[in-house]
Amino acid sequence: MESQNAQRRLGNIYGHLTTEETSQCPASNSNKCPAMNPGKCPASNSDKCPAINSGKCPVMFTSQAKMWPRLTQGEPIRVCVTGAAGNIAYSLIFMIASGHMFGPKQRVALHLLDIPPMEKVLKGVEMEILDCAFPLVSGVICTSEPKVAFMNVDVAILVGAFPRQKGMERKDLLKKNAEIFKAQGKAMNDYASRNVKVLVVGNPANTNCLIAMNCAPDLPKSNFSALTRLDHNRAKAQIAQNLKVPLDTVHNVVIWGNHSATQYPDISYGYVGNHPHIRTPIRSAVNNDQWLQNEFIATVQQRGAEIIKARNSSSAASAAWAVVNHMRDWLLGTPEGEIVSMAVCSDGSYDIPAGLIFSFPVTCRNGEWTMVKGLKVTEFSRKKLDLTTQELQEEKQDAFSFLGI
Ligand code: NDP
Repeated sequence: MESQNAQRRLGNIYGHLTTEETSQCPASNSNKCPAMNPGKCPASNSDKCPAINSGKCPVMFTSQAKMWPRLTQGEPIRVCVTGAAGNIAYSLIFMIASGHMFGPKQRVALHLLDIPPMEKVLKGVEMEILDCAFPLVSGVICTSEPKVAFMNVDVAILVGAFPRQKGMERKDLLKKNAEIFKAQGKAMNDYASRNVKVLVVGNPANTNCLIAMNCAPDLPKSNFSALTRLDHNRAKAQIAQNLKVPLDTVHNVVIWGNHSATQYPDISYGYVGNHPHIRTPIRSAVNNDQWLQNEFIATVQQRGAEIIKARNSSSAASAAWAVVNHMRDWLLGTPEGEIVSMAVCSDGSYDIPAGLIFSFPVTCRNGEWTMVKGLKVTEFSRKKLDLTTQELQEEKQDAFSFLGI
């Protein structure tokens, strides 16, 4: 029954195929075409689809060139959220559905994945999405099958991860998550759009992202990222609060490294002020190196734990909002001159080993991020970068040994 429902909803989504897309499909004139005949949907029957097997199905293989112009043409884009019955997703999905992520005109088809025990909760989320009567939502699929969840998605937000449990060693947590992100990387490799943009939120986010990226060899490495935007936002907020200035006057803080307590929130290149000729470096504006090098860094690093202490629950709403910021900037672009932080695959810049998923300063344009290079790294910063690099290398070693890579 669930599978029939998923097929029916996929059928609705495929209903948005353009004439151009269907005319390119080798199977479009036969009763085997999944797009024309939702009963034979590839999500449940891909082995038998001639279009998929010949690598020519437009539903499965959206060309890179056609991908991001969609954002302006108003065609629905397919967005997968994993851990969709969890806390972060409960804020995130509604932000996506109401247009905060892709803009007020962009329709979305939501692919929501969670594990089978969460099926009932996920059903409740689906009912609430329906009750919101969002004009931008063109379809919803709730599933526990990665194949269905990642089928032809343009954006994948991987929130679900195995939580740390009492008495669990860090290595055990890494192992559990290595298995999950290996399976999801493979599923994206096989079924997602060739230009799917992936954001990993579930912890340990950098290393989970590293695993997914390495298990999806057919997808561009530059399409994988992990979330450090919440840390970035927290750093901006701490500076604004210290200076008693509006938040939108604080620019170009940077988070380096791992989304963990070793991350390095860095204000060396940041400034305060919105007038192009009146900009004060954050360091001079704050005028208190002792605070900047100690309390500021520790506050940003420990903020998540502080919120759990205060709320008895984690920082789900601010995490969801940071996801929206990250994806929106990646796809729609950052303002001219504005630096944001994204954990992406290192190319060896700043002496960070190539291949690590590491948070760097980036700018974004036309759906691509570009690392900001050549920033001066002080001796103080170098020590902080080395510490977080070491942690990420250890995580990588453990994760790869579990996976036999
Ligand atoms: P949340 O939605 O609160 O958090 C999900 C993940 O995001 C956790 O790994 C969490 O890390 C991480 N995270 C990253 N940044 C933050 C932040 N700032 N604040 C809070 N969390 C952050 O977890 P729930 O337990 O409510 O929901 C998780 C869902 O994932 C569940 O529905 C579960 O069934 C599902 N799940 C799916 C799996 C799969 O798809 N195979 C596997 C396991 C679970 P941290 O744990 O460090 O807080």
